[in-house]
Amino acid sequence: MHELSIVMGIVDIAEEHARREGAQSVEEIELEIGCLTTVEMEAFESAWKQAVKTTILEHSVKTIHRTPGRAGCLECAAEFPLENLYDACPDCQGHFLQIYQGKELRVRSLVIH
Ligand SMILES: [Zn+2]
Repeated sequence: MHELSIVMGIVDIAEEHARREGAQSVEEIELEIGCLTTVEMEAFESAWKQAVKTTILEHSVKTIHRTPGRAGCLECAAEFPLENLYDACPDCQGHFLQIYQGKELRVRSLVIH
């Protein structure tokens, strides 16, 4: 249950932040989960429901931004959207890519009360 440990990590971040600000609850949380991460969204949602119970995030409104994958080819310098981590360059079929975007997994913002 990889997703559950991710959710618990997010709960830790939110609780630490709220404690530092002296807040009682988190009203809104915005997450960024890149399309190239191995997070399975259905599993993430069910892990979320279980793990936030009795935590500061229990009643918060959650928004998830899925950042699309984007890469550059180190052989021909093409830049293109990347759907899977191990796809080849669409121009030259090269496999030496630099990932620019899509591997993010972070808390973008928190609205606390
Ligand atoms: Zn290329």
